[in-house]
This record gives sequence, C-alpha cells and structure tokens, in this order.
Amino acid sequence: MESASETLRGTGVSPGIAIGRALVLESSSISLFRLDLDPDGAEREVTRFQRAIKRAWRQLRDLRDRVRREAGEAYARVFEAQILILRDRHLHRETASLIRRERVNAEWAFHTVVGRYTRVFAHLGDPDLRERGTDIEDVAVRVLAALTGSVRRHDLSELTDDVIVVSSELSPSDAAGLNRDHVIGLAIDGGGPTSHTAIIASALDIPAVTGLRDASSRVRPGEMVILDGASGTLLRGPGEEEIASWRARRNRQAQRELDLMLLREQPAVTLEGVRIRLLANIELPDEVATARRYGAEGVGLYRSEFLYLRQAPRLPDEEDHYGAYRALAEGALPHAVVIRTLDLGGEKRFAALPERRETNPVLGLRAIRLCLRHEEVFRAQLRGIFRAGAHGKVRMMLPMVSGLTELRRAKAVIGAVRDELARERVPFDPDVPLGIMIEVPSAALVAEHLADEVDFFSIGTNDLIQYVLAIDRGNEDVSYLYQPLHPAILALVRRVTEAAARRGLPVAVCGEMAARPRSAMMLIGLGVTELSMSPSAIPEIKQMIRGLTMREARELAEEALALDSAEAIEELVSRRLAVPAVGSGGRREAEG
Ligand code: PEP
Ligand code: MG
Repeated sequence: MESASETLRGTGVSPGIAIGRALVLESSSISLFRLDLDPDGAEREVTRFQRAIKRAWRQLRDLRDRVRREAGEAYARVFEAQILILRDRHLHRETASLIRRERVNAEWAFHTVVGRYTRVFAHLGDPDLRERGTDIEDVAVRVLAALTGSVRRHDLSELTDDVIVVSSELSPSDAAGLNRDHVIGLAIDGGGPTSHTAIIASALDIPAVTGLRDASSRVRPGEMVILDGASGTLLRGPGEEEIASWRARRNRQAQRELDLMLLREQPAVTLEGVRIRLLANIELPDEVATARRYGAEGVGLYRSEFLYLRQAPRLPDEEDHYGAYRALAEGALPHAVVIRTLDLGGEKRFAALPERRETNPVLGLRAIRLCLRHEEVFRAQLRGIFRAGAHGKVRMMLPMVSGLTELRRAKAVIGAVRDELARERVPFDPDVPLGIMIEVPSAALVAEHLADEVDFFSIGTNDLIQYVLAIDRGNEDVSYLYQPLHPAILALVRRVTEAAARRGLPVAVCGEMAARPRSAMMLIGLGVTELSMSPSAIPEIKQMIRGLTMREARELAEEALALDSAEAIEELVSRRLAVPAVGSGGRREAEG
C-alpha cells in the first residue's frame, strides 16, 4: 500500500501516543459576507436565523449542564450568562427586521446588530458591563458558526468520536473545556513547553505536542495521524505498517505505565532512606483524585487562576473561593494543599480585571502585583483560603514575589485579613503557613532575606528560566534556548536551597524541572527536598529516586556547578546516568 507519510516536529509537552483521525480547527474568526436577497429569500433567512439561534441555545445548554456536572455550579454560570444573552428578544427582533428591511443574509444582519451592542459595551466604564460585551461577542461567534455550519472551538466539549485536535492555537480555557473522553491528542502550531496550554494538556493527561508551526494547514481534516507526546512528533498519512508498529509501541508504553503505577504505595526514598516528598500540581479542584491515584503526598501547587478563568466573566467571590478550597482541602486529607494566590496577567489574561494593554505583559502587572493593585479581589481570595484552613491542611503561596518590600506589603494585607476574620469570629485557621514562589531572579538572589519572613519556598523553574535566560516560555522560536540545566539556573537553585537550609525551611520545586528524571535528580543533589509535578509524572520520578543515592546526586550537582555550559552539563548527566536525552517512552527530557 502506498504511504505518503510526513513527520512534523515540535515539542512534546504531555507524553503518550495517540493514533486517530485529525480534527483540524479553523481559526476562531469566521469570514463574513453580505448577500442581497429577493423578498422570499429574506423570509427564508429569518427562518434560518431562528434555527441557528435554537441550535446555539441547545449547544450552550448542553455545555452548561456538562460543566455543572463535571466542575460544579460556579463554572456553569459563564454559560448561564451566555444563554440569557442568546435569548434576548431585542437581539432577535432587530436582526429579523434588518434582514427584511435591507434584504440581506442572516450572517450579515446579525453581525451588524451585534456590532452595535458590543461597541456600546466596549465604551462603558464599568468593567462588569464591559465584560458583558465580550460575552456577547462569544455568543455571536457561536450563532455565526451555527449559521455557516462550521466547527467552533467550544464544540470541542460536544464531540462524539475520538479525534486528535490540530489547531493553530488553543487558549488555556479552550484546553480546559475539552471533552477528555474524545480528544485523544493535541497538536498545536504555536506555544512552548511550559505555556499554560501545555500545562493544562498535561493536567488532563492528553498527549500533546506544541510548536508544530504549520501543522494546522498541512494536515487535512479527517486524515489519519499519529501523535507522540514524548518525542514531540506528528506523523501524517501513515501506512498500515506504520500504524501497526505505533500501536505496538503504545501498548508497550501502557504496560510500562501500569508497572509504574504499582509503585504507588511505595515511599519515595533514596537508597540510603532519605525521603523526598512528591506532590501534585493541579489546576482544577477535581484533580485531587487523580493526584491521589498517582501516589501524590498532597498538592504542592494549586494554580487558583483557573478558578477565575472558568468562572469568567464574573469574578469569584469569597464564597466561591471558600467552597473550592474547602473541597480541595478535604479531598486531600490527610495531606496538605498549597493554594497559590492569583497568578493572572502575562499570557493568562482576564477581562474582569481590565488594565491597559501592556507591551510586555509577562513583565507587567501580573500575579502578586495585580493582587496588590486590586486589593479587594486579593482579600476575597485570602479570606477563602483562611476559612478553608478550618477544614484541612491548607497553605498559601504567593507567586512572582520580587523582593522583601513587595513581600511585606502582601503580608500586611494577609495580616489585616486575619485580624478581620478573628474580629468577625468566623471559623478559620489563623496559622495557615505562608510560602512564596521563587521564580523572579531577584527573589532567588535575595532568598536569604526572604527566608526570614516565610514558612517555605517553592521554586517555579518555568518562570525562573524564562526570566533568567530572557526567553518567552510560550515562543517556539526561542524554545531551543530553554535550558533547565543551564549553569545560571543551577547556581540560583543552589543559592535558594542554601538560604532555606540556614533557616530550616523546606524547599520545593514546582516547575517542569521537577517532572523530568534527569533534572529532578539534579535538583535533589542541589538540596531540594520536595518535588511537585503533574500527577502522571510522579511514578517515574519515584522510580528514579528509589534507585538513587544522595551521595551520587550531590556529586552530580557539585560537578555540574563547576561546568560552564548547559551542553556540558547535559553531557555530564548523560554520561553519569546513562539515561537517554529523550525519555524512552517516558516524559520528554530537558532540551539543549
Ligand atoms: C513556574 O513558573 O514554574 C510555575 C510552577 O508556575 P506557572 O507555570 O503557573 O507560572
Ligand atoms: Mg510561574
């Protein structure tokens, strides 16, 4: 049989092999055109418009119900708001009368009417109302898609067949809304290994490759493709033999994963019995169960911003925070959960906190900076965290702290919230431990001062590498420079672990470096005592630790610190440990 296969190369961001048909997503913009109709045509258009509204309504209703079932009421509200917009009689009447008056096609009329509304909303001062404008646009795209019969991104939750999604981009919330039963792989043109889309894909346990450049225009809709999330490849048009050989490979991998899962009940100890705590990074509260299944000893990073993104357009209030964190804390018992306060901004934008457009959002009003600007939003979250502390072992962690003054400002707000709760006699835990992410280079450099003021550190290597090496973590053109084992990174990690050790603080790493055996081994050698990662990475890291001695890990780190380039350190690791640079069926290793 003729085989015209082609291999496209990108970056593997979530391991696993997927074999299936491609669903190629068009870009979110829908092309619009104006048609002049005869009088009968106008009536047909009105009927067509009404049908499209019904179709969009059914989609939104199903989406709302599914999200309510899988993620809870709070998340379902975003679709509730959109249903209300869709049912607005003015919108229907104005569109129908424009179709009749000007005898134009439904797409054009609807687009014109919606445009009037969104322009009005865009100029309103009230951020909540402005946000409504975004909702209207979202509903409009859905209705236009229903009119033109095209596949919309949001319909990804409604798939009925298994597909590998091939797309130019996928926003974090699109990724979070995927139907996990039918999306068996993700192939994305843009994005880097630690972009938030990649993180979500890995959290959902869907094999994914990013940075494929023009895959979405090369792959034909419905074409057979094979995606390998470990090596970062997408094979299009494979022949029968290739498919059979990849199937066999996939089965071998599944068997290996099963073997690793048997380690679940075993402790993560080195050969001399030194214990390393292995924790889970999660984005959605219901992932606590997954974390437990993979043997996590608690949650080392709960990225709370996904609560905000899923709740959009509304900001979560104190009760939303409390409810989500309480469920999380109770679900994790007897273990602890580290709740990271809001880390929006950067590539995770949120229209309910409108700020002026930033030229460099990643260096802009992000994370703790955004919280200190919008103190009332920060306080609602802090109150929720403290109150959830009464139901489990809760810790709070501040992202993107850059130095002592900023930390003290945040601590002043935290202290005020604590006093306020005490005065109100609300049940809460006043002793919720406070930690900070070390992910801004300045924080790593002044770690000894910061160590005096907090209970723990967690190094966010994803951002630390981005900022130290000056490479956008979401830009595939510079991803070859994303070198976790760069001497500058290792030196900073060492500085942080030494500062923490002097004060007896635990140091975790919750960036991707913790999830890859080669770099995790280095981190242990550098003095890191806890590793937090996406749950599915835990068994392999545990297996590595159980075959390691602290002595060899420390020697490896010492030798590495004396070397002058990432390449030399990579070579050292390969030589000393004889672990291939690309995990054999496991997680993709550090590049460079
Ligand atoms: C990090 O920066 O390493 C981290 C864990 O946080 P995030 O990936 O959410 O920025
Ligand atoms: Mg970070």
